[in-house]
Amino acid sequence: MSIVLDGKKLAKNIEADLVGRVSRLKDKSGRSPVLATILVGEDPASATYVKMKGSACSRVGMESLKIKLDQQTTTDQLIKEIKKLNANSDVQGILLQHPVPDQIDERVCFDAIDLAKDVDGVTCLGFGRMSMGERAYGSATPVGIMTLLNHYGIDLQGKHAVVVGRSPILGKPMAMMLLAKNATVTICHSRTISLETYIGQADILVGAVGRPEFIRSKWIKDGAVIVDAGYHPGGVGDIELSGVLERSAAYTPVPGGVGPMTIASLISQTVQAAEQSCL
Ligand code: NAP
Repeated sequence: MSIVLDGKKLAKNIEADLVGRVSRLKDKSGRSPVLATILVGEDPASATYVKMKGSACSRVGMESLKIKLDQQTTTDQLIKEIKKLNANSDVQGILLQHPVPDQIDERVCFDAIDLAKDVDGVTCLGFGRMSMGERAYGSATPVGIMTLLNHYGIDLQGKHAVVVGRSPILGKPMAMMLLAKNATVTICHSRTISLETYIGQADILVGAVGRPEFIRSKWIKDGAVIVDAGYHPGGVGDIELSGVLERSAAYTPVPGGVGPMTIASLISQTVQAAEQSCL
């Protein structure tokens, strides 16, 4: 029987725990933790994600400071906003919603975020520290996936984990986190030759491609643990889950798997940052 890695349920439990931690912080300092969210431009999907993150803050008793910048914002203007938030002692975490408009150098802006407030785990410094096993907030989606795998007791040690995708916010940090748990990791990308062969060897498969049902169920071996980070119109992910559910060891549903865990991780890391700063 396949285990459903129920991200929706676990995220709810995490939020319930955060309510208590936020309330203790408020009792101690008289202030609520604050996550600043920066949305640049008019992308409707990004606006929805920022709204969902703001709602999650309210559910656990935190506040969100919403910064909305117009589509024409320059790199310098965005850096100026980030620096203001770095210096604002009311703010414990900063989220710059990805992607930003093309004229902006996103990497430079991510790296302008103070490490102590990088609760979405997007800075090079945070990535490097996390990869070296030093303290840093991890990128929210892979942190959420690791929390989910750990919660369901998925054994990673010595297992062959295949991560399809190598983006800075998902594939790369995912691979480093799996490696830190002693999985043997293969990273696949758009220039990988014979992708099916690697996928067929995966004990743990992470789909982070951004193309609906790109990974075919027939490529996946029996008994694999399947993690699908994608979400597309029609309620499908990056993996063709329908053909593989009953022969997998475990899988993340779409929706209700990875998505809720991303938000729970972001909020959780913001509460950690607030606890560290003691407001
Ligand atoms: P991305 O930046 O577009 O990266 C996609 C990756 O897939 C790239 O590394 C790319 O390789 C690789 N790829 C593209 N075509 C491929 C092919 N034919 N064969 C093998 N690899 C291929 O996307 P992302 O931001 O990492 O997101 C990946 C997925 O996760 C998307 O579906 C996104 O919606 C989802 N996501 C979900 C959450 C959540 O909270 N649930 C958060 C973030 C992202 P190259 O590097 O060679 O181009």
